[in-house]
Amino acid sequence: MTDIATPTGLLIAGEWQSGPDRFEVHDPSDYSVLAEVADASVADGLDAVTAAHDAFAEWSVTPPRQRAEVLRKAFEIMTAEADTCARLIALENGKAWRDAMGETIYAAEFFRWFSEEAARIEGGFRYAPARDKTIITDHRPMGVAYMITPWNFPAAMATRKIAPALAAGCTCILKPPRETPLTALWIGDVMQRAGAPAGVVNVVTTSHAGEVSSAILGDPRVATLSFTGSTWVGKSLLKQTAERVLPSSMELGGNAPFLVLEGADIDSAVAGAMIAKMRNGGSACTAANRFYVHESLVEPFSAGLQEAFAGLRMGPGVEPTTELGAMVSDIERDKILALLDEAAGEGVDVTPAQQAPATGAFVAPTVARGVEHGSTLTRNEIFGPVAPIVSVANTEEAVRMANDTEFGLISYVYAADPGTGVKVARQMESGMVAINRGIASDPAAPFGGMKESGLGREGGFAGIHEFLETQYFAVDL
Ligand code: NAD
Repeated sequence: MTDIATPTGLLIAGEWQSGPDRFEVHDPSDYSVLAEVADASVADGLDAVTAAHDAFAEWSVTPPRQRAEVLRKAFEIMTAEADTCARLIALENGKAWRDAMGETIYAAEFFRWFSEEAARIEGGFRYAPARDKTIITDHRPMGVAYMITPWNFPAAMATRKIAPALAAGCTCILKPPRETPLTALWIGDVMQRAGAPAGVVNVVTTSHAGEVSSAILGDPRVATLSFTGSTWVGKSLLKQTAERVLPSSMELGGNAPFLVLEGADIDSAVAGAMIAKMRNGGSACTAANRFYVHESLVEPFSAGLQEAFAGLRMGPGVEPTTELGAMVSDIERDKILALLDEAAGEGVDVTPAQQAPATGAFVAPTVARGVEHGSTLTRNEIFGPVAPIVSVANTEEAVRMANDTEFGLISYVYAADPGTGVKVARQMESGMVAINRGIASDPAAPFGGMKESGLGREGGFAGIHEFLETQYFAVDL
């Protein structure tokens, strides 16, 4: 087994607990076993609820400055130990080292941002229009937050939830995915070392996500759900939370369009596409999924992307020189290969830009040419290093096709100038638009989607409000 620097038990009430059941975690680049982690039962999940509920009474009234200092300390530990975190991410997720390190820094920044936000929770005071009373608005922590995270950002999706929850005065139970629990357990350890009191952060790893989650969500002591993952699972959770009218923040799937409009600079569009498409090997909810390129630019853009794809160094994520790592599992790899087969059957040229390593869950980077809007590759979230190119006659057509989806997380617009880019961005049905750049995510910005890509926003000024309840006092002063 690889030497990994993280606990492998369940973190409940400040103690690392190891039950009788365990499951294996693998390195998808060579299938080696990295660790065996504790496999929580329903009873363990409910113990974590008890721990979080008990800790809430004190944590919710801890001075915001003190909560801020715990988060600031977590930021400092995570930054100082960035190599450890990046190594865990690269090992269990397979992503390239530079992406793992990029994620680590991004993840740590949520602790810094929300350490600053903790002390800035505003209320309100004003007179009613009839002046018969004053309207005082207050914000109070919701209570115990249940958090479910996906495998594609094992660190950042956890810190994007834990940091605002703690800043708001909530306590939490984090349930990481089965594929990548090690990074989450390490973050649990960081929170302990940063001074989070026992029970404020609990981490429950399990291979029975549905069963354990249903029990936790059915417990009246749980006040809110924060979920990041697929739209399909998100919808099934919403049905459960509807039973209790439980506030539910949903960061769901995407199908991001990438527009290259007439007059756009090709070199910068290719450079932006490499980030938007290839960050995390394409396994990102924000990954550019469909490229709508003006007909005059299709050839140079496709050729530029093809050349860049061909030059990527593929290999195990932990190798510092790797630029494109493995997919998280054979299951995810095979989903992408099945989409490529289907596209080939539709007459799309899916010749890979290079050969993938023979062993491991690798997918060769592929520029798919001759793609029709509405075909397989434009309808499905590919989640891998495949770039389907659709030729468009004009901006109106590009916008119409871009919006022709039930998803609305992010769009990318490459235009001749930023003014045109903003004009087109206003027509995009997505929560975020990156204009003449390949990445938008920032802890200080509101991250989230329209349509079936989600409910609520994480990060920015909005993120903390996912964990705060608004209360209004009517009083005659
Ligand atoms: P997933 O929905 O399969 O799993 C997400 C989490 O839900 C995991 O922890 C999993 O164990 C858990 N889960 C699965 N079934 C469950 C159930 N029945 N009840 C409770 N929990 C359950 O998604 P994934 O494959 O891990 O991640 C990829 C998806 O996540 C993609 O669709 C991607 O777009 C999306 N994503 C969205 C964002 C965003 O911010 N919008 C960010 C990252 C990933």
